[in-house]
Parts: sequence; structure tokens; C-alpha cells
Amino acid sequence: MTVNPLIATFRNSYAALPDAFFARVQPTPVARPRLIAFNHALAEELRLDTRLADAQTLARLFSGNDLPAGADPVAIAYAGHQFGNFVPQLGDGRAILIGEVIDRDGRLRDIQLKGSGPTPFSRRGDGRAALGPVLREYLVSEAMFSLGIPSTRALAAVTTGDMILREGPVPGAILTRVAASHVRVGTFAYFAARDDQASLKQLTDYVIERHYPDAGNDQIPALALLKSVISRQAELIAQWMSIGFIHGVMNTDNMAISGETIDFGPCAFMESYDPKTVFSAIDEFGRYAYANQPRIAQWNLARFAEALLPLIDADQQRAITLATDAISAFSSQYDAFWLAHMRQKLGFSSEHPDDEPLIQALLDQMQAAQTDFTQTFRALSDLETDAGPQQFLALFSSQAAIQHWLQAWRSRVALENTPIAARQTAMLAKNPVYIPRNHQIEAAIRAAVDRDDFSFFEKLQTVLANPFREDPAFADYSTPALPHERVLRTFCGT
Ligand code: AMP
Ligand code: MG
Repeated sequence: MTVNPLIATFRNSYAALPDAFFARVQPTPVARPRLIAFNHALAEELRLDTRLADAQTLARLFSGNDLPAGADPVAIAYAGHQFGNFVPQLGDGRAILIGEVIDRDGRLRDIQLKGSGPTPFSRRGDGRAALGPVLREYLVSEAMFSLGIPSTRALAAVTTGDMILREGPVPGAILTRVAASHVRVGTFAYFAARDDQASLKQLTDYVIERHYPDAGNDQIPALALLKSVISRQAELIAQWMSIGFIHGVMNTDNMAISGETIDFGPCAFMESYDPKTVFSAIDEFGRYAYANQPRIAQWNLARFAEALLPLIDADQQRAITLATDAISAFSSQYDAFWLAHMRQKLGFSSEHPDDEPLIQALLDQMQAAQTDFTQTFRALSDLETDAGPQQFLALFSSQAAIQHWLQAWRSRVALENTPIAARQTAMLAKNPVYIPRNHQIEAAIRAAVDRDDFSFFEKLQTVLANPFREDPAFADYSTPALPHERVLRTFCGT
């Protein structure tokens, strides 16, 4: 059934591409859709007119039981390197792109149902999503947005009323994901692996028009596209690193060309600072450990470059030289972004040659004392308040060493022209007090899945919506897990 006119300006630019790009498929209806979350602010941003829609109407729409007028649902084809191994066909096995809308800023945004039933890409999967992972993605993707980090968004979540089989029976759910687009590195690899040059060219033109229009004016548009994507990813990964985010499955099918964080499977935020931190239960060898993320991003971008080679130059050797230079530039770009973000965290608005060793010295002490990553930077931001440096110092075991560091930091900030109050305001706006802590997410999931209690999930959403504004009522959310609360393993749950 078609409902209208909930969505004013529905586009289907992806569905207008040739058949090789996707499979047309309808969501499979679910038993009893129930709305458990709806993102009104995002709906407004997307100019969705939901004034007349009650919870039941929304539940039917965002479960796929009803489709909005003008929708042209497709499952997108893509490939991907999973833990380094190339899989020539993955594709949307449990997600369906309903269509695109034009948001308030004139940008095209994808609306996708995740968990909406089997597609021709489902392989042996059931096409469904479990409630736990849906809640995790809802919380973490929205938290990323509130933290100011490019990310796909969560528009709605519904439970389906059907049980699905994972380790045992669990409630099924569907997440409505909003993305700048769902084109990934793996989408390019899909056509490259088939040596389908025509589709590769079409995909490139599509992506340039949609995301990087300036690249279209370049002498070699495909090379300009590659360079733009490299810069965006370099900044994105630097942002992840600056808040302790660990993606967990940085396969090439989970790297969006738009530069948004995508696919929140076993992702988690680091608590005690340790560069080797890994949460994902399937990441046996730590390929996607915290500190490896920049290197892995570069590796993924090299796979993107390989797919683009024929479009960069007809002379393969020349194409390789140009692409290699672009990929090599990732490291210095990443380093520069990282340093810029870390300077902001430490309250430096100017640049000094000793900044990097000073930052590194703090990280070394954090690692030695296993301080909580988020708390440490927040305490440093709070140094000038009545509380004084005690809160910061108390996080460290070796007082002499951290006192010494603090002195060096004070001498460094003395070189700034910014008044103390302004510096502190800037630091408090850069260093969050609330992040989605693993044990809190887990508790929200347990309450919802085991007891049908969504109050903790709702509370977490409220807390994470304003990550930089401290609220005494939310004190429990700003501290790391106690030893018995720690969640050290996260699962895809697919
Ligand atoms: P992900 O781990 O979510 O990035 O998914 C990797 C691949 O597995 C993608 O092609 C997904 O569409 C597919 N997939 C994951 N879960 C399911 C499922 N329950 N049913 C069908 N396909 C799935
Ligand atoms: Mg994926």
C-alpha cells in the first residue's frame, strides 16, 4: 500500500541508473510494527511532513509495510574487502534503499530501511536485523552527529513483532538510516572486478555530481575524485581518533565515498587509553584496532584507487603513478588533521613546533596510567574552574610526571593570545563529557530486549544529544565502567 504525501520531494536518482547497479525489491511485510524511536529533528531537516502521522502510521512506513508515494525501492550491488579478502559480490542483503529526499539545505539524502527482509544479495542471511544492533546503531550514529563527526543518521527504529534467530530467538527490528549516499569503496570495486568500464564511468560521474562537483571541472575528474575522497577520509579518521572511536569493521564495503561514518556494527568508544584497543569479537588479529585505523583507511583508499585506474589514464603505468602519489599524500594529510584536532583538544589555537611531542607525552602518560580517554581531556578543559587541577591530576598514577607535563602545558598555553575563559570555553566545546559508553549501550539494549523497557535507551539518547554540556543530573554517564560493568567485546549481531 502507498501512503502519501508524507514525503514531499522523493527522488530515485540511484534507481535511475542502469540495472547492473541494483536489484528492484520490495520490503517484506512484518507482523506487528511498533515505533520505538523517531527522530523529529532529523525529519524536519529532511522536510518530511509528519504532522498528520501518528505512531502507527510511522511504524507502518518505517517497517516497509507501507511505502511512501514515489518510492522506488532497490537493493544496491557492491563488493568489498572483508578483513583484507576480496568478496566480489556482497550488496544490500538486508537493506533496501527506499529513495532520496532533498533536505533543507538542498542536499540529496538516502532513506534506507535496514532489516527489511531478504533481497537478491542476502546469500544465506535472513535479511533481518536484531533489536540490539538496531539500538546500538541508533545511539552511536546519532551520538557521532552530536559530537560533530560526519555520520549516517538514524531517522526511525521499529520492532517488527517477529522473532528472528541469532544465537537464539531475538526480537526483530528495522532501522531507518539516512545517508548522504550509500556508495562505498566496494561499489567501485564491484564494477572493477567485473571489468565493467561503462558502469565504472557512470558510477564515477554519478558520485562526482552528487558529492564532489568540483572534481568534474578537473582535467582528470577520476583523479580529482580520488584526491577529494582521500582528504575527506583523512579528516574523518582524525576525528574518530580524537574522540576514541573504534569502528571495528573497516572493510571497504563499510567506507562511504561521501566521507560519512557508516555501518555501526561492533563499533565502540575506548575508555582507558591504549592504542591497541580492539572490541570487535570477530577482529581476531586486531586488524581494526584503534591505532590501526589511519593505516587501514589508507589501505582501503588504495583499493578505491585501483578501481579507478582505467579512468585516470589509458596508460596504466601513468595511471598507477598518479594514483600512488595521491594515496601517499594520505599520511601527511591525516597527520595534519590529527594535529589540528589534538591542538584544539589541548586548547591551542596557534601552532608551535613542539606541540606534537607535548601531545604525545600526554598520551604516553595516559597509556601508562590507563586513564579514561574522554575524562582526561574533559578534566584538562575544566582546569580553571573551582575544582582546579585536582580532578585531572587524580587520573594519573605518577604525580611527579604529570605535574611536570602540566607545567609544560601551562607554559605552552601562556604563548596563546586567547584569554583563559575563551580558551576554556573552546576546550569544553571540543572535549565531550558524554560519549556512548559500551556498558551504557549494553544496559540500554538489555533492558529493551529482555524486559521490553526502552526508558534507558531514551535516556541515553537525551544524554548523548548534548555531549559537551555538563548536566549534574547525568553524572553517571560521564564516568567509565566499573570493573564489573566493563564490556570488552562487541558483536556485529548480523
Ligand atoms: P555488514 O557486516 O553489516 O557490513 O554486512 C556485510 C554483508 O553481509 C552485506 O552484504 C550485508 O548485506 C550482508 N548481511 C549482513 N547481515 C545480513 C542478514 N541478516 N541477511 C542478509 N544479509 C546480511
Ligand atoms: Mg556493511
